[in-house]
Amino acid sequence: MKIDVDLARSLTPGCHERLHFNNAGAGLMPQPVLEAVKAHLDREAMMGGYEAAAAAAELHEHTYAALARLLNCAVDEIALQENATRAWDMAFHSIPLRAGDRIFTGHAEYVSNWLSMVQVSRRTGCTVEVVPNGPDGAIDLDALRRRLDDRVKLVALTHAPSSNGLINPAEEVGAIVRGSGALYLLDACQSVGQRVVDVERIGCDLLTATGRKFLRGPRGTGFLYVRRSALDRLEPPFVDHFAASWTDREHFAWRPDARRFEDFEHSVAGRIGLGVAVDHALSFGMDAIAERTATLAGDLRAGLAALPGVAVRDTGSVRGGIVTFTVEGIDAPDLQAAYAREGINVTVARKEIARLDLEERGLDRVLRASPHYYNTADEVERFLQVTRDLVAG
Ligand SMILES: *Cc1c(COP(=O)(O)O)cnc(C)c1O
Repeated sequence: MKIDVDLARSLTPGCHERLHFNNAGAGLMPQPVLEAVKAHLDREAMMGGYEAAAAAAELHEHTYAALARLLNCAVDEIALQENATRAWDMAFHSIPLRAGDRIFTGHAEYVSNWLSMVQVSRRTGCTVEVVPNGPDGAIDLDALRRRLDDRVKLVALTHAPSSNGLINPAEEVGAIVRGSGALYLLDACQSVGQRVVDVERIGCDLLTATGRKFLRGPRGTGFLYVRRSALDRLEPPFVDHFAASWTDREHFAWRPDARRFEDFEHSVAGRIGLGVAVDHALSFGMDAIAERTATLAGDLRAGLAALPGVAVRDTGSVRGGIVTFTVEGIDAPDLQAAYAREGINVTVARKEIARLDLEERGLDRVLRASPHYYNTADEVERFLQVTRDLVAG
């Protein structure tokens, strides 16, 4: 199946106003998502929030089913969250860790995940070890295999980093970790909505992502997948009257499903919008989206690499929809501002949020451009032309 680009664009109000190459920051919401969110806010205003939630219960419940279909898991393995960071924290802080335990991660790990690992290592005395990269810049599978032992309680990997076009070999890592006794937590924030992310094929125990990036959902939405067999090895760090029932004065019982990682209050409109965003992606097909996004990003990368003074900074032998580069003599924030004057949205990735990746490669700042399936070859061409003009001064 090929993407019907005209259809995708006719359902994307924002794409006619700007050239949006910041899908790794926040994708443009499709019209049906926007309408679903607004419709629920209207219901709340007209009926009352609780009454509106009851009236829209099926729409809300559908979001779990849509995510289960997207990830190839069961409905009771999904917990909705307000963002990917909170989803990751809920997973991570539910893992029992103590002095002597080892956590493995990679150079592409997301900044906030790393900070949490540092915090817990200080608190508990467990160690956090960065598995080296192979020559291509992705996590070194042999090194991972050699180092794994029964003290490793967690392998935390970022599938697609936010500061690099690299895609880490999540499935191969899963095959190595499986049977080792360690839990496998995959940060799929930049890969969900961009590529096929199938938890059975990957073999992860836990997976987290956000709604607003390549999935094109509303802001303030995210989710956590918890494999059923992992559920009872974890204890959520917080409990409330939604996650558990108060059985008697001194006792409570966790919900039987992954929703024990949720709490009571949330944006119902946001969650409904997230489900519609997943439906929207599935209606185009994740295979088709992945192929088109990688093609547009690949053309952009090749075009940039051919320009004098421009250096593409992506590593890895498999690359996705994120393109990072630097331009000789123009600092990335100035470049971003110059693109903005042309109606082009891009962003800057800084070493302060990617010390294990950018800083260790000697890069302070890189420009990040992230097209999606609703972008066009003409937009790639225009972006290259604007870059050419900027380089020429
Ligand atoms: C954006 C991002 C996050 C955090 O997502 P939020 O929804 O902003 O919390 C986590 N991991 C990666 C790889 C990201 O790119």
